[in-house]
Amino acid sequence: MTNSTIPLLPEMAEIWQQTLNWQPNAQQQQQFQQLYELIVVGNRQLNLTRITDPQEFWEKHLWDSLRGIAPHGQFLSSVSENAAVIDIGTGAGFPGIPVAITVPNCKMTLLDSTRKKINFIDEILTELSLSNAKTFIGRAEEIGHHPQHRKTYDIALIRAVGNAAVCAEYTLPLLKKGGLAVIYRGNWTEEETKSLQNAVNQLGGVVESLEQFTTPLTKSIRHCLYLRKVVNTPGIFPRPVGVPTQKPLSVQNDNNY
Ligand code: SAH
Repeated sequence: MTNSTIPLLPEMAEIWQQTLNWQPNAQQQQQFQQLYELIVVGNRQLNLTRITDPQEFWEKHLWDSLRGIAPHGQFLSSVSENAAVIDIGTGAGFPGIPVAITVPNCKMTLLDSTRKKINFIDEILTELSLSNAKTFIGRAEEIGHHPQHRKTYDIALIRAVGNAAVCAEYTLPLLKKGGLAVIYRGNWTEEETKSLQNAVNQLGGVVESLEQFTTPLTKSIRHCLYLRKVVNTPGIFPRPVGVPTQKPLSVQNDNNY
């Protein structure tokens, strides 16, 4: 298998600058390219992503991953202060790998329940010499009770893993008090924020902000929801494997009324 036919990713220096007030250096651009090539090649064997066109990969995987940690178009200062960050359900490594490349000072844990995806990511981390990232095979419902993980993260990222109540239940137990969960969404409505509020409160969090933005190339609408952990999460959360998805917290409450 050869990488010679894989196109170069666009650089987009101006767009990076305008949207995130940042540009990748030569090493980071090279790591983005390596990541892209490894995923295109890996995709021939593993079903990793349907996004393989270079522009689309740049926008939906690289730019979108980084926009989540840059509310209002500025990187969160907390992320670069040796933050412990976890990406839950990272799949082929998004948003966690682009964040680890961009913020060398953060310590990234990439979690997925699928061994073959994690094995693939381990290869990527070696090829890219990404020493600030490590992987973990497991379910969010389980590691949420594990003393090595519960209450140990400053930032929890989660994209395309489940509905927002499920994401809240997976992320909040893992955060230290004061930590931030970033939930990446496509569409989102005010009504959804309202119905989520109750679930977030039960988990010890508050909905701190909601951001709507458009992606720079295709002008697609995206949302990011930021949850702040304000008090400890009660010990019953996260509930056992499968329960958060089968009975999402807000839905359960609606049924009680
Ligand atoms: N975050 C990536 C992948 C999304 S696909 C992206 O945005 O591209 C969802 C991934 O979450 C899958 O790889 C699946 O294995 C993982 N996943 C689903 N439920 C999980 C759970 N409870 N704990 C850990 N990983 C989970």
